Amino acid sequence: MMGSPSQPGWMITNSTPAKYAELHSADEASQALQFASKHKLALVVKSTGHDFFGRSVSKGSFLLWTHKMTSTEWHESFTPQGCTTDAGSAVSLGAGVQFWQLYQEAAQRELKVVGGTCLTVGHVGFTLGGGYGDASRMYGSGATNLVEAEVVLADGRVVIANKCNDHTDLFRALRGGGGAFGLVTKATYRTYPKPSFEGHIHGRISGDATEGLTKFLAWYAAVVEQGLAKHFGSMLFIREKDVMSEINTVGLSLKDCSRIAKPLGLPCTASSQSWPPPEVVRSNVVGVEGWVDDWEVKSSSSYHTQSLSRYFRLDHIRTDGLRQEFSQTLVRIAKSLGGRSVILSLNYGLGHGSETALRDVADTTVHPDVATAIGTVKLDLTVAHDKLGQKAASDHFAVDQKAYANHVSTRNQLDALLVGSGSYYNEGDYSDEDWQNRYWGFNYAELKRTKSKYDPGNVFTCHQCVGSDAPACSRRLSAKTTEAAENARVNFVIV
Ligand SMILES: Cc1cc2nc3c(=O)[nH]c(=O)nc-3n(C[C@H](O)[C@H](O)[C@H](O)COP(=O)(O)OP(=O)(O)OC[C@H]3O[C@@H](n4cnc5c(N)ncnc54)[C@H](O)[C@@H]3O)c2cc1C
Repeated sequence: MMGSPSQPGWMITNSTPAKYAELHSADEASQALQFASKHKLALVVKSTGHDFFGRSVSKGSFLLWTHKMTSTEWHESFTPQGCTTDAGSAVSLGAGVQFWQLYQEAAQRELKVVGGTCLTVGHVGFTLGGGYGDASRMYGSGATNLVEAEVVLADGRVVIANKCNDHTDLFRALRGGGGAFGLVTKATYRTYPKPSFEGHIHGRISGDATEGLTKFLAWYAAVVEQGLAKHFGSMLFIREKDVMSEINTVGLSLKDCSRIAKPLGLPCTASSQSWPPPEVVRSNVVGVEGWVDDWEVKSSSSYHTQSLSRYFRLDHIRTDGLRQEFSQTLVRIAKSLGGRSVILSLNYGLGHGSETALRDVADTTVHPDVATAIGTVKLDLTVAHDKLGQKAASDHFAVDQKAYANHVSTRNQLDALLVGSGSYYNEGDYSDEDWQNRYWGFNYAELKRTKSKYDPGNVFTCHQCVGSDAPACSRRLSAKTTEAAENARVNFVIV
């Protein structure tokens, strides 16, 4: 499938940056940004390279790599700078911390911190987009749990952003406004006591795909109406012929979980408490701990992704008729995907969540639908680099027009079903021309103002990021600036 520099989207493999600097501190980030500003360089910020659109690996750019900033500091109570009340227990994370490290340290302390499902994702990109984990309906998103961030601005100034000081606008922007405002070097999040029981409701739902999905939707609508939505997260896979549940639960006893799962015809089982999970391995190839070889070595920053997402609410599935239409549309789409699945992510959306999950949602800048959505319909069709073979090694190859036409048809079908629904910035549609409205709704106007205040030169520019509707920054590393970089007396290392 997919992608060429002339076709919007889906081209990641060959977006190799020209030069990169490995950052270890806010001071180094400040020097790197001042250097970039002096030489008018196009910039990208990368932690893990998981961004679906390749926002972190733009061709010809100067890449600031935060991966080695892996410090953690656990606080029994944390008072953000300038605040008079404490935010409770919290953890401060260097910009390079990945979820495997966070979960490992949290488990040792019997704590829970909201993070994503995939262990190799980094917390900063996650949170800047909103950030939803399996237990988000219970504890909130990355954005709602962020209490403070240390940020290096485009001009090299280092500022602290939180609810209480002069940078509350920047703080709100970091809570869901995407990667357009500054380089985050440290972020502090609320922590929670580890829940006593976490369960799985995994397995195939009986019947064909339409029957299985209709049954699931009736069950889920009832769960939401009974006020139980906060206990459920993770995913349902809608395939050509059937529906597979990978739903996870939090805060229910095994007995209650089993009783509630019964109408689905699936058992509830305890999730594994063992750590580290088997897929986290030491990779000799890259020489760092905690990378999942299969993802990081074969595919990360060398994959093509076609993604698309739409939030949905209870009123989309409240009646039999609506559920039939919902099921038929999603199954029709699944049948057009050549063996891949449409996914329902129950936790991508905080609607009908717990008070904790919802308490700060109005103080974030994600799409307003997040506050009422009971989940997200999404597609993320990822093709690893090694599966694309020769084609992926060339700079230009034709877009598969049939695949693209199918993508547009899928988008149209979802828009007819979920009229006006918002979409998740981190898992959006590369070719969506209404992305401002789709990711942020009425919050976009505020985000644009914040952008002009903190990054008037649009240094932090990326695909479908706040301000990227302004004339694109065309700065690139030239031979001249590369030479300047090599001769410059800078304390960070340019590689
Ligand atoms: C396999 C996989 C699983 C995923 N699972 C989930 C999930 O469960 N829940 C969920 O909500 N999302 C999930 N995502 C989406 C994920 O949250 C985004 O891809 C996110 O951008 C990853 O952030 P990163 O920092 O790891 O990636 P990177 O590619 O390194 O960064 C992405 C972008 O974030 C910004 N950024 C990163 N670091 C900084 C920084 N220090 N300062 C300023 N800007 C920065 C930049 O704009 C950068 O281009 C998943 C993605 C993948 C590929």
